Amino acid sequence: MTEAHLSTAQLPVIRQVGELRRTIAAWRAAELTVGLVPTMGGLHAGHLALVRRSQAGSRRTIVTLFVNPTQFGSHEDFAFYPRDEAGDAAMAAAAGAHALFAPDRAEMYPPGHATTVTMAGLADRLCGPFRPGHFAGVATVVAKLLLQALPDAAYFGEKDYQQLQIVRRLVRDLDIPVRIVGVPTVREADGLALSSRNRYLSAAERAVAAHLPQVMTAVTARLARWPLEVENACAWGRDELLRAGFAKVDYLALADPETLEPVLRADRPGRLFVAVSVGKTRLIDNLPLEGV
Ligand code: AMP
Repeated sequence: MTEAHLSTAQLPVIRQVGELRRTIAAWRAAELTVGLVPTMGGLHAGHLALVRRSQAGSRRTIVTLFVNPTQFGSHEDFAFYPRDEAGDAAMAAAAGAHALFAPDRAEMYPPGHATTVTMAGLADRLCGPFRPGHFAGVATVVAKLLLQALPDAAYFGEKDYQQLQIVRRLVRDLDIPVRIVGVPTVREADGLALSSRNRYLSAAERAVAAHLPQVMTAVTARLARWPLEVENACAWGRDELLRAGFAKVDYLALADPETLEPVLRADRPGRLFVAVSVGKTRLIDNLPLEGV
């Protein structure tokens, strides 16, 4: 059967690392380049932007689907995380993916698995203190996926900007020969960044969530006018978020786009980062400062 006849239902689903490697070896033998798009499923237009970007840069695209238990804290939403493999496969196929790699937990973490990748510095900032162990879980699973597939390029969203920087550091530090490509955040019409977790929001919570991009934009506008007033602008933003109905603001802060260290003046490179809770749902987002 030619590729043109592959229907959605026929998107090959690969379960085992050996099969993944054989599939990729066959592509490489045919001189086809390979792009990898790691996801935890619950696919939406943000994930599909990564798939399309991979399509544009590589001849073959593999979407990975694995809800990685080790990156969830004990009080987090692992048990409730959206799981719809058939729906995800259909969306990935429609966006042009060539295969879905959906290993089970035992394939990724066989009995006796004992190695964890931890990272100093980047992983300690922003979300680090609020999600102990999270970035070690991310770094470990991403290192495994990259080493399993050894693609030419792997695609990650700027939506999870700290994760993107950690992955960039990871491949440099461990000499993993993969090009990491960051893809801009895809947003709803009202500016809310798409997230698999948005589906947890009630109508009332969704209305509160709409304030997040508005407040972030207002803070960046203040920073453009008063670049030396970073802490004032961020404190104003945190108050606005609480007034808008967010239950908790973990942080709203300006940080260096490379190191994620705090930035105290907005007339140098900086990016605004935020993490909030609405009801039981935690949302993160980030925006570059314009014109710096
Ligand atoms: P997740 O399934 O949440 O682990 O996300 C898988 C990949 O999709 C990560 O690289 C995310 O950064 C990326 N992603 C998630 N939401 C968006 C979005 N709204 N725009 C662009 N990329 C996104």
